[in-house]
Amino acid sequence: MDLGIKTRVALVAAASKGIGFAVALELAREGARVFLCSRDEKRASEAAQKIHDETGATVAGIGADVTDDQAVEHFVNVARERAGRIDILITNAGGPPASSFAEANLEAFRRAFELNALSAIRLAKLVLPGMREQKWGRIVNITSVSAKQPIDGLLYSNTVRAALTGWAKTVSNEVAADNVTVNNVAPGYTLTGRQDELAEARSRALGKSKEEIIASWATQGPMGRIGQPEEIAAAVAFLASERASYITGVTLQVDGGWVRGLL
Ligand code: NAD
Repeated sequence: MDLGIKTRVALVAAASKGIGFAVALELAREGARVFLCSRDEKRASEAAQKIHDETGATVAGIGADVTDDQAVEHFVNVARERAGRIDILITNAGGPPASSFAEANLEAFRRAFELNALSAIRLAKLVLPGMREQKWGRIVNITSVSAKQPIDGLLYSNTVRAALTGWAKTVSNEVAADNVTVNNVAPGYTLTGRQDELAEARSRALGKSKEEIIASWATQGPMGRIGQPEEIAAAVAFLASERASYITGVTLQVDGGWVRGLL
């Protein structure tokens, strides 16, 4: 299927590795012009170069921490100045630490809200007016299956993803008539550095090896395996495309069937 985004300009946040990187690569493969960011300018540039080498697409890597107002404004301005427009926004960040409520503290809640909710809202605030004016736009937030089925021990993620999901649904209604869609992709267990981090934390908490923890995650879902970043990226690219023009306000889990609910 031709996704119809060859002339589109995409911003992909937090994309030097993991799911964000896979999304930037997939959009570039589809012919979009891509601007990606991550906290470290060098790693962002290296990721952009790698994607350019593989796809031939125009890709730029910019250093920007998604929790920093000025850095994010700079990221958006660079893209707008160089490309003249922004059509697609993929919001993403690292994940918050694992915690129970007994261990939790308010400062960590604030940090999680900054990292996994305000980071997306901040970017959207900057790009939505332009998308509405040009009567075409796509926002896809990378969240987590924890927004549909909370995961024990991931208190901050469970709380903050739900907040962002509420925001996205509300905003999707406000901008739909301007041909701008807002959707979420909720990954299940996916083979990335983030997963390694969580496995490490669980292995300390449960006194099991990291390998045992990852194997136990794999067997939780009906497919009996962990997802690959490319499998998440394919769904994100579709929702960011021309082909998904009548889909808005949804949260699509990409989890090998892990979520047990109907919707
Ligand atoms: P990852 O740790 O592999 O990659 C995270 C990327 O974000 C890196 O490029 C990192 O440099 C960048 N980053 C982190 N903090 C940033 C910041 N403040 N500003 C800019 N860039 C920043 O993580 P991942 O597995 O690709 O996860 C991406 C998102 O998906 C996270 O929010 C994660 O919680 C969520 N998620 C992951 C899984 C999984 O199993 N991997 C499952 C559900 C949800």
